[in-house]
Amino acid sequence: MVPFDYPARLRRARELMTARGVDALLLSVGADLPYFTGYRAMPLERLTMLVLPVDAPATLVLPAFEAPRVTPLPGVFSLEPWEETDDPLSLVAGLCRSARRLGVGDTTWSVFLLGLQSSLAGAEFSAASALVGELRRRKDAGEADLLRQAGAAADRVVARLDHTRFAGKTERELAAEIAAMVVAEGHESAAFSIVASGPNGASPHHEAGSRVISPGDAVVVDFGGRLHGYHSDITRTFFVGDPPARVRKVHAVVAAAQEAGVAASGPGVPAQEVDRAARRVIAAAGFGSHFTHRTGHGIGLEEHEAPYLVEGNAVPLEPGMAFSVEPGVYLPGEFGVRLEDIVLVTGGGVERLNGAPRHLHSVD
Ligand code: ZN
Ligand code: ZN
Ligand code: ZN
Repeated sequence: MVPFDYPARLRRARELMTARGVDALLLSVGADLPYFTGYRAMPLERLTMLVLPVDAPATLVLPAFEAPRVTPLPGVFSLEPWEETDDPLSLVAGLCRSARRLGVGDTTWSVFLLGLQSSLAGAEFSAASALVGELRRRKDAGEADLLRQAGAAADRVVARLDHTRFAGKTERELAAEIAAMVVAEGHESAAFSIVASGPNGASPHHEAGSRVISPGDAVVVDFGGRLHGYHSDITRTFFVGDPPARVRKVHAVVAAAQEAGVAASGPGVPAQEVDRAARRVIAAAGFGSHFTHRTGHGIGLEEHEAPYLVEGNAVPLEPGMAFSVEPGVYLPGEFGVRLEDIVLVTGGGVERLNGAPRHLHSVD
């Protein structure tokens, strides 16, 4: 694990808590926990929760048998392991008896939140993401470097796919091969691989299935993995054989839209402007109603996180923000095309974290 400055992160969280009048944060499974402690808890029904008071050291309440997997930081956070017969919720409640305003991590299981709401009846609960999200969405140099490494590893998988046979394999078989390549190229794990062939390509999040890929298919391939906790996410569209004019045309439109989205990105630009720039190109080509999702999402410890590049989100982009630019055109009954890269906002524009060729990839 790359050693991040966890004490500094906790200090910044407390500064924001002080400014907003939040007495304690309660962070359970999800990405906030590794962000502050380096520990990614398994999303299980046993409670794991970091209690982070504004004015006292933090405590990580966790199942006793998980404790050996965590390194406490003296003076920063300590461990409070609970045994199978203990009631972990009363441990948490005891640690924040005097807190009036509590920020709860977004992906906390509702059964735990409901329990805390009844045992801390006088307290006020809000979403911790309003506060933690502000810190997490700006990546520091160490995080940016891991995203860069993850992007380069994803690029190498694309290079391997150019020499991979598609025809005759089921989507599921190809997806499994991609997942293996994602790990072989340096990720610690594969997060997902979408393989959407022929008419299945018209569904943006199609789950790879039993359809056999054949000559004449356009194939949307979207995959990502995790490298030291940080994600890659890339999409390229392949064609089995020589692509006909209609597929080439749609691909050229999507590529131009992606380029426009990237060109529009930079510090101070409202997030929705990136979406508008990409959407304008697709609409002008007559495919506006076939671009059915937002243009992109932030990326980091989570595959999808703030900032979201979507109409209505006027949050100005800032140096350190990393996000996808991934327009697509989906033609029901025919095929789909999507092109996705991750970019990192810099002082003067953006750095592309993916460099794999953006043409329509012709394969066998
Ligand atoms: Zn997605
Ligand atoms: Zn993707
Ligand atoms: Zn994505």
